[in-house]
Amino acid sequence: MEDTGHGMVARGDRVLTAIAIDREAREEVLAMMIEDEDLEMVIRGFMADAESTDIIEIRIDSWTVGTIGPEAREIERTLRRDACPVCTRTSFWIEDDEVRAGCHDRLCKAWIEPNSVDEDRIDCGWPSAQRTRACSSFGEAKRVLTQMRAEAEANAVETTDIVDVSEF
Ligand SMILES: [Zn+2]
Repeated sequence: MEDTGHGMVARGDRVLTAIAIDREAREEVLAMMIEDEDLEMVIRGFMADAESTDIIEIRIDSWTVGTIGPEAREIERTLRRDACPVCTRTSFWIEDDEVRAGCHDRLCKAWIEPNSVDEDRIDCGWPSAQRTRACSSFGEAKRVLTQMRAEAEANAVETTDIVDVSEF
């Protein structure tokens, strides 16, 4: 049989699963994929609509085919849903131990990301206000985002009803 590169899964291959977990720690499988990008697409779609669900966490597991015992599974990363420092909706997903985070509300999209060059730096931004800031910690980044929202609201009051803050 010719190898097309899309052949069967073989011993030693890796597959990925995404599991959604609710407040009662009940688990629900979202997907099993071979490619990271495919799984990422499913997760992104799910995160965007999770606000109306009980799901507060997503766990991504990496499975090695043909392994006996607990080593067959390795936890790749977790995503935890929280209140957004900007829009206050519970559409803010935090990766692992506050590595990065992003709001999946389509009108907000506030984010926190480690800087790719300076490892002591963590950046945050709020696309709706076209603002980004460099911070020294995740906690600081969250506070800065909350401040951005407060400043936008203050400006909106000054310029009267040109900007409707409820749209952010
Ligand atoms: Zn938000």
